[in-house]
Amino acid sequence: MSLPEIVKSAVYTAAHFSGLSSALAARYRGRGTIFALHSIVDDGEFHPDHTLRCPVGKLEWILRRLRQQRLDLVTFDEAIERLSTPAARRFATFTFDDGFADNLTKALPVMEKFAAPFTVYVATGMITREIDAWWFGVAALIRSHDDVVIPGLGRFHGADAPSKQRAYSAIEAAVHENFDLLPAIRAALAAAGIQIRALVDKEALTEAQLRVLSAHPLVTIGGHTTTHPNLARATPATARREMAENRTFLEQITGKPVDHNAYPFGHAGTCGEREAEICRTLGFRTAVTTRSGMLFAEHRRHLHALPRICLTRDESPSTLHCKLNGLSRAFNSPLGHPVVAM
Ligand SMILES: [Zn+2]
Repeated sequence: MSLPEIVKSAVYTAAHFSGLSSALAARYRGRGTIFALHSIVDDGEFHPDHTLRCPVGKLEWILRRLRQQRLDLVTFDEAIERLSTPAARRFATFTFDDGFADNLTKALPVMEKFAAPFTVYVATGMITREIDAWWFGVAALIRSHDDVVIPGLGRFHGADAPSKQRAYSAIEAAVHENFDLLPAIRAALAAAGIQIRALVDKEALTEAQLRVLSAHPLVTIGGHTTTHPNLARATPATARREMAENRTFLEQITGKPVDHNAYPFGHAGTCGEREAEICRTLGFRTAVTTRSGMLFAEHRRHLHALPRICLTRDESPSTLHCKLNGLSRAFNSPLGHPVVAM
């Protein structure tokens, strides 16, 4: 865990045991949760890009815990339905972003075991291998080099797993803060001979796998743009095309309508009211961000700006308890309005 993660975990633990959690829960926990994940990996594997990876054993632990708490695990459509049903039981729905092959090979068997429906938001470029997944390149660079220098960003040194994961987190956070850093990162990747396409090929669903996943009764396929850009920096026409063409692409492969969308990256610097409006006019029923928050009845008016709760490899009984009670929002805002939209 990085230092901020350790601090956050300690805050969650203290809140859990002090009873603060239950007091805040009354205001923050809402009606249900959309959980966000990316890749599911084998237990004990090392990945510099740990923020995108959840071990399969941890996923199973999370699902068992949710079942023990008698939370209903529902489809995305059912989650939206329940916003209009005050008497409905509390619920959670699972989402996986990007289109990792391990969503089929590792996540699906676990989700089946718990009869847990889930949505996979697939970027066209994952399937065609054309996505500019600079984050895969950053992970490969850090994995293969103990000393990484990126002009304008800094020097990252360390041979052990925690140092490499800290370096990845720092670079990822810096880019999410400032996408102007990308040319320097791309130059560093090119200088190291890193081929992003080959990395994508190892990680991403094939077209055939996407078809299998989409045909499964527990699975909903959602949109995630063509190239996975920062939509907020794109022209309106490009943003529109990114979302529309991705939907057509997925519908042609799966033979099913694609009603739900996820904005790439999903935080405030990458999507806002304009993207929500484009998404709505394209006819998507819903869209999710990565803004942290629970679902409330009020979200019926913000169906194209739905918040999620990210799950990590570091979940513990305390963190999960606090997340289910909406405390991520209570602590991050801090104590701001419980209903998160754009
Ligand atoms: Zn994504």
